[in-house]
Amino acid sequence: MQNLLRLCFIILTVSWIQACSVNPVTGERELSLMSAEQEVAMGEQYYLASQQQQGGRYVVDPDLNVYVANVGRKLAAKSDRPNLPYEFVVLNNSTPNAWALPGGKIAINRGLLVLLDDEAQLAAVMGHEIVHAAARHGAQQQSRAAILQMGMQVAQVASSNTGYGDLIAAGAGAGAQLYISKYGRDQELQSDKYGVEYMVAAGYNPYAAVELQQTFVKLSESHAQDWLQGLFASHPPSQERVEKNQQLANQYGNKGVRNQAAYQRAIQQLKRDKAAYDLHDQALKAASANDLSKALNLTKQAISKQPNEALFYVTKGQIELSENQISTAKSTFSRAIQLNPEYYTGHLGLGLIAKEQKQYGTAKQYLEKSVALLPTQVAMFHLGELELNDGNQTKAAEYFSVVAQQGGELGEKAQIYLNKLQPASAG
Ligand SMILES: [Zn+2]
Repeated sequence: MQNLLRLCFIILTVSWIQACSVNPVTGERELSLMSAEQEVAMGEQYYLASQQQQGGRYVVDPDLNVYVANVGRKLAAKSDRPNLPYEFVVLNNSTPNAWALPGGKIAINRGLLVLLDDEAQLAAVMGHEIVHAAARHGAQQQSRAAILQMGMQVAQVASSNTGYGDLIAAGAGAGAQLYISKYGRDQELQSDKYGVEYMVAAGYNPYAAVELQQTFVKLSESHAQDWLQGLFASHPPSQERVEKNQQLANQYGNKGVRNQAAYQRAIQQLKRDKAAYDLHDQALKAASANDLSKALNLTKQAISKQPNEALFYVTKGQIELSENQISTAKSTFSRAIQLNPEYYTGHLGLGLIAKEQKQYGTAKQYLEKSVALLPTQVAMFHLGELELNDGNQTKAAEYFSVVAQQGGELGEKAQIYLNKLQPASAG
């Protein structure tokens, strides 16, 4: 404790770190790198972009989001910080994953929901994530440098020579690392422990948390690399966690609700659509292996099984763009936006097409909307060119300097513009 206090003192004199504080969950004193207000602000700032990078919200069955959020709220009310501005969303992503941002902004992928059996297991996932937020695990980890760096981060979407960019990687979860904390063993065990406590307080059977860990261990043994990037990278499963949860459950006893029927009803649509999502996942794989005709074929099959999924159209539109089928791509992206106006890729696709067709006003609207959802390098580069075209040199320079910081081919092009725009400052 003496050392910790001295460390706090040193850090306070350096002045960029807040203070020592008491952990709201464990009651222990610890270093706190952010104030509660900063935590909340940070969570709010990155919540939308983090969602967009991982497929956006799942909107085909809006009732599922309501159901998951209700379970989340029930648990949050029993947490050590019931007054955080909690939010719970279902993400349109096949990777079995869940995460929490500081301040209580939580997400769970549809790919994890289909692996769970009942509401108590869902409560085990959500309880665990609520602890990460309530116990400030993410906030503890962030160094000041990391926080500053995050403020400048722009999603990288690879660009190609077509002028449209190769957007397919986005939304698949590839490189979607805007903000996913890697927690340590102690933080995981702490989240398991208090997560079970919250579950029991909310009336759920704690043995669901044991089953959840068993499922994860089994999955981590049977799946390789691509699964590790998801849940198991941020929350590594282990036999130790299974056993600790078992001990906790034994303490609380085999009682509490399961709500299996309600849960199965809630994920009915997801289960029905599983074949369609599997086809789409295969399409993304084919696309990243550059087999575009196979990818297009698989995407069409996915659409015929579930014609209301915007993500399928977004992928189809990108393939069509890559194959220079511009007018088809245009109507495909329009359909995607109709189905889910709050997902960035359709706007980005339509913006790039409009710019190529010299409809600059329209292009700017679409690209600005896409950047509001997720600031990608490709959209910001083209917005820079549009501003330049309108004679707005200051705005153009703002876009180009962000793009230049991100490097790559577009970064170099942006730097050339910047050098022309700011010749005086170059020397
Ligand atoms: Zn965790």
